[in-house]
Amino acid sequence: MRKKIVAGNWKMNKTLDEAKALLSEVVNMIKDEVIETSNRGDVTVVICPPSIYLTTSRQYIPSGGRIMLGAQNCHEKESGAYTGDVSASMLKSVGVEYIIVGHSERRQYFGETNAQLAEKVDRVLENGLVPIFCCGESLDLRENGDYVGFVKGQLTDSLFHLSAEALANVVVAYEPIWAIGTGLTASSAQAQEMHFEIRQHIASKYGDAVAQDISILYGGSANEKNAADLFAQPDVDGGLIGGASLKSREFTNVIKAR
Ligand code: PEP
Repeated sequence: MRKKIVAGNWKMNKTLDEAKALLSEVVNMIKDEVIETSNRGDVTVVICPPSIYLTTSRQYIPSGGRIMLGAQNCHEKESGAYTGDVSASMLKSVGVEYIIVGHSERRQYFGETNAQLAEKVDRVLENGLVPIFCCGESLDLRENGDYVGFVKGQLTDSLFHLSAEALANVVVAYEPIWAIGTGLTASSAQAQEMHFEIRQHIASKYGDAVAQDISILYGGSANEKNAADLFAQPDVDGGLIGGASLKSREFTNVIKAR
């Protein structure tokens, strides 16, 4: 079912003490202001700290509630000699529920390919976890190329081998690379255009009912000021939030905008 989701990607930030402080603030603010006292109790919040803090973070997040624990990446193999990496099953074993797959920083700095990401999506789903599959175009493509075709290609290559039942468990995050961490945000119209195209592309392969049920998040310099406009778009189901998820007040305000 199409869900409203706001996910925070902390990236490689915070010491352990800072992470504990941020997490307890966010959990308390969400409990007090978002879930119990407003009509936004239907928002799922996913918090993705660095993997070294996941076990500790699990203890701060009430089980069975609306706040979920997410990881920022996993390896495409189930286990083996991959020094320094972690698998989806290892993440599951420490209580992770969502895993970001194919963030543009992983594609750019670690050379992750669409084929490799298809394998990661498989491992995440096999373990009963939810992949947040990231896609998005560069500034050059946005200005000079077929950016819609490019994003559709990312979806085709990494997701379209799945059955309709499996795809139903995937969350898509549209993150134009030119808007990530730059302070430049896609306008609401630009976000809506691409989210609509993504949904249409999914419908062309899986049918309209499946496409309507997929949650598509927007990511790219979303913050407490622009979130309400972005989230008001009919095909924008929530956000993947980087910088603004590192401040408890701002992140909670973004959640409240959804
Ligand atoms: C992200 O890293 O997924 C992201 C959207 O970052 P920011 O919000 O900082 O642009």
